[in-house]
Amino acid sequence: GDKVFADIRTGIKNTMIMLNHKIKKANVNVIEDYDESLPPVKAMIGELNQVWTNLIDNATDALEGIENPELIIKTRRDREFVCVSVIDNGPGIPDDNKKRIFDPFFTTKKIGQGTGLGLDVVTRIVKQHKGTITVDSVPGRTEFVVCFPING
Ligand code: ADP
Ligand code: MG
Repeated sequence: GDKVFADIRTGIKNTMIMLNHKIKKANVNVIEDYDESLPPVKAMIGELNQVWTNLIDNATDALEGIENPELIIKTRRDREFVCVSVIDNGPGIPDDNKKRIFDPFFTTKKIGQGTGLGLDVVTRIVKQHKGTITVDSVPGRTEFVVCFPING
């Protein structure tokens, strides 16, 4: 799509509505921490929403069977970027898998549950926007941080 000035919070809110059924079913406690003064970002709205969808979907999957499952969404400004953190208190990503999670078709999910394309798509959208993605994961806490340049 074309790049337009997009409100990050609205995009995340819409994504949460799309994933509402799955999040509710998993009993996830969602904590949202939005920077109120976050500027809009020049980006492709559909692609941004795909990023939030894929990250929140993965976090929700990771929370299956977890006691007190918690999903934290945070936004903040970092110089000329806006950054979104998606944090879960799931089992974490084993060290052996960390290098591979961004590879197309890499999945640890059951057949029919995962395509292994979610993070590959996220990576491609982030690159397309000259953004960054990082992951920080230990047992009990996984955080993905995606940053997009404000000026596109
Ligand atoms: P899929 O969700 O179809 O498996 P993804 O590309 O979205 O494919 O994710 C690849 C793999 O990365 C997942 O199968 C899982 O092993 C791991 N992963 C991604 N996000 C998380 C997370 N929040 N916690 C634990 N593992 C994760
Ligand atoms: Mg996925």
